[in-house]
Amino acid sequence: MFSPIPDYLTEVLDGARSIVDGSVADYIPELAAADVDKIALAIALPDGHRYVVGDCDHVYSIQSMSKPFTYGLALSDNGIDVVLDKVGVEPSGEAFNEISLDDDGRPRNPMINAGAITAHSLIRAADPEERFARLLTLYSAAAGRELDVDERVYTSEAHTGHRNLAMGHLLRSVNILDCDPVDIVNGYFRQCSIRVTTADLALMAATLANGGVQPLTGEQVLPARAVRQVLSVTTSCGMYDAAGDWLSVVGIPAKSGVSGGIIGVLPGQIGIAAFSPRLDKHGNSVRGVHIFERLSADMGMHLMNVPPTHRTAIRSIDIVGDVEVVELQGALQFSNAEIIIRELVDNTSHPAPVVALDVRRVNSINDVARKMLLELLRRFVIEGKQVAIIDPDGAVGEVDLGDGIHAERWTSMPGETTRADDPGITPAR
Ligand code: GLU
Repeated sequence: MFSPIPDYLTEVLDGARSIVDGSVADYIPELAAADVDKIALAIALPDGHRYVVGDCDHVYSIQSMSKPFTYGLALSDNGIDVVLDKVGVEPSGEAFNEISLDDDGRPRNPMINAGAITAHSLIRAADPEERFARLLTLYSAAAGRELDVDERVYTSEAHTGHRNLAMGHLLRSVNILDCDPVDIVNGYFRQCSIRVTTADLALMAATLANGGVQPLTGEQVLPARAVRQVLSVTTSCGMYDAAGDWLSVVGIPAKSGVSGGIIGVLPGQIGIAAFSPRLDKHGNSVRGVHIFERLSADMGMHLMNVPPTHRTAIRSIDIVGDVEVVELQGALQFSNAEIIIRELVDNTSHPAPVVALDVRRVNSINDVARKMLLELLRRFVIEGKQVAIIDPDGAVGEVDLGDGIHAERWTSMPGETTRADDPGITPAR
């Protein structure tokens, strides 16, 4: 049997082939030579599995799809506050190459050129070579293979990028850049000239979807907090001056580049990359936009399509001998931890001397939910109950409830058949 997913992706791709609107970016002469028939779509899952259709091995320059990654490294090197002093986070509503700064002299955000050039300058390095090498290492780690530079695209842009150079000088004049603007802008051109495939970009996007952990190598290539900031700004500013429209219609945080690629990131779920060189008036790939619109509509990928989960957090409550077993399930965060607490607090009859939270069907628990549940158990202890967590895999982690109070950690329920190597009921301590 064959998976239906590649068939669906092929159908989406074929649906976009007939679109011939738009034109290639020609302000960088080398980009004007792009093969307009090339088209590709790739998606990568958090376990690294990839589906690729069309010309997924076709190589092109990353252009502005580099900006989220450079911003991420700038954040990782300097911390959010230092970066915010130099680059804002507000959508500009202007074209990506607008020569304008905010009233306070900062570029409005790191996804327009002025902000991206500034973010490039914030990469810590002894010299421009080291700065670029660190970026290439980061992009390669996110793609899971060694990337390199398209020297022809670099030379082409370096010879014609007067507008970006003007921006560099403007930024230097207001001390947003504190080093040679020509070095920084050339470094930015090199960053934009790094060669990728659509398959690479899907993995790079999946790395962002995965909180900065590259799905195949398991390497934490950017800190999770930096990735959160990157994705927030990408959501509001990633699609040039079409960002608001994009967010409401497609709802997938995305960044496009003038080479014709678009990367999309659904946090926790999926990285997407689409490519086709003809651009609309905003600078976004026309077919790429169409592909993303379809994926969002068909596959329910809009960021705001979040199914309510809180009603299903408690699977069952049973009294088994001396133990009240509360079986939990799903992905636990604030709202469903709250419903668990409310249910157990409102239901005042807890006849058994032991209360056990069974988390074996919980597939994830965030820090807030974990703290809330441990506090609930602490309060049961204060009321005179013994408490336990049935957690053979240690999903809840340390079960120290504070004030010297501990919950027992059990690997199974009393009387349950266990595997030969399972010691059965064992306090964790
Ligand atoms: N290197 C291009 C520029 O600075 C990138 C633009 C883009 O992809 O949006 O003009």
